[in-house]
Amino acid sequence: MQKISGKSDVYAIIGYPVKHSFSPLMHNSAFEALNIDAVYVPFEIAPEDLEKAVIGMKLIGIKGFNVTIPHKEEVVKYLDILDETAINAGAVNVVKNENGKLTGFNSDGAGLLRSLKLQFGFDPKGKSCIIAGAGGAARGAVAALASAGISKITILNRTRSKSEKLIEFIQSKFSELEMVSEDYPFLDSCKKIEADLFINTTSLGMHGEEIPNLNLSLFDKNCIVYDMVYSKNKTPLLISAEKNLLRNANGLGMLAGQGEIAFKIWRKVEPTEGLMLKVLG
Ligand code: NAP
Repeated sequence: MQKISGKSDVYAIIGYPVKHSFSPLMHNSAFEALNIDAVYVPFEIAPEDLEKAVIGMKLIGIKGFNVTIPHKEEVVKYLDILDETAINAGAVNVVKNENGKLTGFNSDGAGLLRSLKLQFGFDPKGKSCIIAGAGGAARGAVAALASAGISKITILNRTRSKSEKLIEFIQSKFSELEMVSEDYPFLDSCKKIEADLFINTTSLGMHGEEIPNLNLSLFDKNCIVYDMVYSKNKTPLLISAEKNLLRNANGLGMLAGQGEIAFKIWRKVEPTEGLMLKVLG
């Protein structure tokens, strides 16, 4: 069990809700394994309190914090400096506090790439991808895939204006990338779907919900299905991927990957290899 001292560094996660988060488990296990005098705690912050909460983080000297649903885009405007990963995504999930100056990073996208590489040996260069969702998690994924040289991304989102806004934002930075917005619900046809990767970045599946009209039997047999949702039970998306013999994974690998990258940003050392994924069970 970690001991908290008068000198302990404090790290945190802010979200609304935040009770479901596994980040305290991952980071506290990593601090303990490396004998680092630090502790990581969750704070539930309502959207209307975000600015005050960020000011409070500086005031009480929180060394760094993660940002989760629904604050990843909104928090950008309260930070002092943005790393390139955050600029490209327009969303932040990691903040580092150095002498009262807050720098925002995006480790979601790099965590996703790390997981795709480790689990499937997937290299995005020249590939095509369909992404469901256009929120904070989608932004990180799209920016990282674009930086890694993916050729085409199709975005499917319930609110079309949000997918269009995301496409405009990303194409202003990656003009070579082909991006298309599909109507929602989509794939309501019997046409074969050519894609190397399908990623669910919506929260659909967290409570057993299906992605409407998604027919994986139409997908190319080599397509990898990646669900960012990490619930204990298999999501309907992953059950369907298995039925259709498509390679698939839930979001635990990405969760561990983004946590490892955040830890390195804060502490300048890697956490023990494989530990974060292991504690996620
Ligand atoms: P967010 O910014 O709130 O975006 C949520 C997205 O889900 C939006 O595109 C939203 O569409 C869509 N959505 C929500 N409810 C829906 C519904 N009933 N029907 C259709 N679409 C719906 O959240 P986020 O930060 O992107 O996170 C999204 C998911 O990714 C969460 O499940 C989160 O746990 C997961 N995630 C996982 C990791 C990981 O490491 N594995 C990392 C980050 C996030 P609209 O635009 O129409 O509202």
